[in-house]
Amino acid sequence: MPSPKYHRILLKIGGEALLGKRDYGIEVEATHQVAKQIKKIHQEKVQIALVIGAGNIWRGVAGSKNGIERATSDYMGMLATVINALAMQDALEKIGVDTRVQSAIEMKAVAEPFIRRRAIRHMEKGRVVILAAGTGSPFFTTDSGAALRALELKCDVLMKATKVDGVYDKDPLEHPDAKKFATISFVDAIKDKSIAVMDASALSLCMDNHLPILVFNLFQNGNLKKAVSGEPIGTLVK
Ligand code: UDP
Repeated sequence: MPSPKYHRILLKIGGEALLGKRDYGIEVEATHQVAKQIKKIHQEKVQIALVIGAGNIWRGVAGSKNGIERATSDYMGMLATVINALAMQDALEKIGVDTRVQSAIEMKAVAEPFIRRRAIRHMEKGRVVILAAGTGSPFFTTDSGAALRALELKCDVLMKATKVDGVYDKDPLEHPDAKKFATISFVDAIKDKSIAVMDASALSLCMDNHLPILVFNLFQNGNLKKAVSGEPIGTLVK
């Protein structure tokens, strides 16, 4: 592989990536597929921080629509990200990738607390740092957690793994003539609600601090490696 374009990345994976063929929870095989892709870039000495969502288990907004207080429901979502983080830790370590889980909500028996300088040190030592519990605060999403941590940890890019291969002018599943953007501006991504790269607070945090976001499809084998080498895949928001 050509030498990586990005040396330290924050990879954000939605909880749905762990669903596999299930409609709820975790399919172990799906965690292994994700882990294998991560291993390929880890072998190229790319430093990796991983943020995982929990859409496969619990989303705060959905719970609050069913009558659970929003803050409580959000904490439930954050706890669910810890479950996903442990599943990813297991999958990565099974294939020989050293990891540490750090949680924004203290949970000493299963994870270190999030300590910025320690997270950086782990990456320098070649460990993948899995960041659980988002920002640790309700009313946010793991996308915001990813943006925040990417900035704190001085990552070169926030890579947002999705099921589509970038940002289109309309839904590519419904419109075969939909056009993919190679790059878009933060302003357009925030203004155009149909684009839906990330929620507005995550986007504005990245925009204000000049952190590029690469949206790409993790489910095409080899894509993560291509993304890290700077091959033109996905859509770059900058
Ligand atoms: N969450 C939160 N604060 C955070 C991160 C996450 O309250 O900083 C909660 C929120 O309820 C969210 C849930 O955790 O719905 C799961 O995260 P998210 O929806 O971002 O997961 P994804 O869509 O990436 O799978």
